[in-house]
Amino acid sequence: MAREFDVIRRYFQEATAARDDVILGIGDDCALLRIPPGQQLAVSMDTLVAGRHFVADANPTNLGHKALAVNLSDLAAMGATPAWVTLSLTLPAADTTWLTHFMQGFSALAATYQVQLIGGDTTRGPLSITVQAHGYVPPDQALRRAGARVGDNIYVSGTLGDAGLALAAQQGRYPLDAGARSSVQPHLDRPTPRVALGCALRQVAHAAIDISDGLGADLQHICTASGVVAQILAQHLPLSATVRAYIEQTQDWQLPVSAGDDYELLFTAARADEARIRQIARDLAVPVNCIGEITAAETMVMVL
Ligand code: ADP
Ligand code: MG
Repeated sequence: MAREFDVIRRYFQEATAARDDVILGIGDDCALLRIPPGQQLAVSMDTLVAGRHFVADANPTNLGHKALAVNLSDLAAMGATPAWVTLSLTLPAADTTWLTHFMQGFSALAATYQVQLIGGDTTRGPLSITVQAHGYVPPDQALRRAGARVGDNIYVSGTLGDAGLALAAQQGRYPLDAGARSSVQPHLDRPTPRVALGCALRQVAHAAIDISDGLGADLQHICTASGVVAQILAQHLPLSATVRAYIEQTQDWQLPVSAGDDYELLFTAARADEARIRQIARDLAVPVNCIGEITAAETMVMVL
């Protein structure tokens, strides 16, 4: 590897705070980790490629945030507590300004969840960012896609379609005034992984997934894995004022159903546990709405 890439390794070494359960972090051939006794390891990986997942000149601080956020979102959807991450960077050049800003976004989010960067790889090539996230979860408490039961309520956190609307505006497909744009853009650039919610849903939710491909597609994943179908009430979909105004103007109800990138949690739980779900949402100050129920019919029903 070129010398210039050796120089930038220190950007990773001091990027995140040390955890007690990291025996050996960056600097050797492998990291050494102590998994808490009696816990299972949850591992997930996601790649962001320039030109496919983001524009090449995207703000690097936002990219650092998002690359980590989408992985923490996967841990959240599993009910896992985040602990360690690795980072594989393919960079066109050893651009230290870009890297400084990228690591600022990455490190700030890592600090929020006490996640430590424990290793990675750095190579030259077209810009691509891969993060692997490691967390832990008590045995048999992980929230899988399979597990939704007939009669379950279906819940979603936050609001839907904001990231999709920001992308439409960014790509010039829909004009938004500055105020509206600034209300939806953070959903696309700096999604909030619902880590605390995912952990709190252990032993309550029957099935869970994070919405990366869109409500419809991700709900279908739960339904397929669980062998059930879902009935969603369009009027119950949680919408921001900006998305609501967009729909009123365009009648495009597809946006909150099909747009991806929201990284909200979609989960099911027994109707009898509704009060528990509401209490969790209140305690964490995370909006959670019931948007429908799991049924036994043969095909997915969308009541619009
Ligand atoms: P090796 O040749 O053994 O793979 P490297 O030169 O690739 O070693 O990396 C040296 C050290 O720096 C390793 O501990 C590795 O985990 C770490 N490292 C390299 N790139 C990154 C990165 N992008 N993020 C975090 N750690 C990194
Ligand atoms: Mg290497």
